[in-house]
Amino acid sequence: DSGIDLDRVAGLIRSVPDYPTPGVLFRDITPVLADGEAFAVVATELAALAGEADLVVGVEARGFLLGGAVALVAGVGTVPVRKAGKLPVVAATRTYDLEYGTATLELAADTVAPGTRVYVVDDVLATGGTAAAACALLTDVGAEVVGFGALLELPALGGRSKLGDVRVDALLNG
Ligand code: AMP
Repeated sequence: DSGIDLDRVAGLIRSVPDYPTPGVLFRDITPVLADGEAFAVVATELAALAGEADLVVGVEARGFLLGGAVALVAGVGTVPVRKAGKLPVVAATRTYDLEYGTATLELAADTVAPGTRVYVVDDVLATGGTAAAACALLTDVGAEVVGFGALLELPALGGRSKLGDVRVDALLNG
């Protein structure tokens, strides 16, 4: 039963107060990835939610680990969305606001064809700026975002509202 499995996954997430800045309760999913059964449950559940997607996109950096696993289970390929300055040839760039300052995400050229149905994954949905920027990069190149999936959503931060029409899936809420 996947409910029992997800309870076990929830128990593996480590909450670290005041990291990386005072007042933030950081949710460290590393122990989930390090547990083979928990990792498999997460990848399987997110792959089911990816449905008929042609491609899974993972957001730097923990989203890469999830995205690769989800893609493999779903039987499709994976493409990373990267932080600025990491890609030699860039197709699209999006800058968004953080609590302090801004961040920029980029998509490599010639990786996502127009019309591709993409499922975007990351570890945590917090304020939603990262997820919204990642989805926008994909629509910039003519892809269709069929959904965004996170292992953990922090609903108090309202991130879901930044994603507009994109369907948002979260395996856990915290
Ligand atoms: P946001 O753009 O605020 O939704 O932040 C999402 C991104 O930042 C994700 O890539 C998360 O990995 C990371 N993140 C933000 N807040 C947290 C948190 N409290 N715990 C763990 N990761 C977080």
